[in-house]
Amino acid sequence: MAAKEAIKETTKEATKVAANRFSIDYMSLSSGLHTFDFEVDDALFAEMESNEIKGGKCSVHACLNCSDAKLDVNVVISGSVVVECDRCLDDCNIPIEFSGLLTVRFSDLQHDYDGDVMWIAKGDQLSLKQYIYESIVISLPYRRVHEEGGCNPEMMARFSVADDDDIVETEE
Ligand SMILES: [Zn+2]
Repeated sequence: MAAKEAIKETTKEATKVAANRFSIDYMSLSSGLHTFDFEVDDALFAEMESNEIKGGKCSVHACLNCSDAKLDVNVVISGSVVVECDRCLDDCNIPIEFSGLLTVRFSDLQHDYDGDVMWIAKGDQLSLKQYIYESIVISLPYRRVHEEGGCNPEMMARFSVADDDDIVETEE
């Protein structure tokens, strides 16, 4: 029991450290523009318990326009993530390019986060972790495959599919 509690505490600490990696201390900032850079690595996808993304490396550039009423955060993400290839099931690197605007508004009441507007109580920590993770997920293409000829030939030989294109057409 005690050991279990200890593990829980350790996990909580690790999660806190990971969460702080994508946080902005906006209370200490003056009005106007401020820029921040974050690095996304395998730890984020493990922490978010992603089913489809096995890992990756992305750089995040956030440009924050700070005012008393709200925060506008322009987020640009570029890099790549590792997913399973739809064709050969081997690991496959998919490039990620994302650009979006997140608005942070202040309220002591609970509001739903819809992906574009995030509500926090003034003074509360602003973490971009969820936004960054979701932005990477929605940037994934519908079809995730190696470039033509890049599939694992051994894996491909196991699938006795004569013509891969026929399958695509019937699926769509
Ligand atoms: Zn492949």
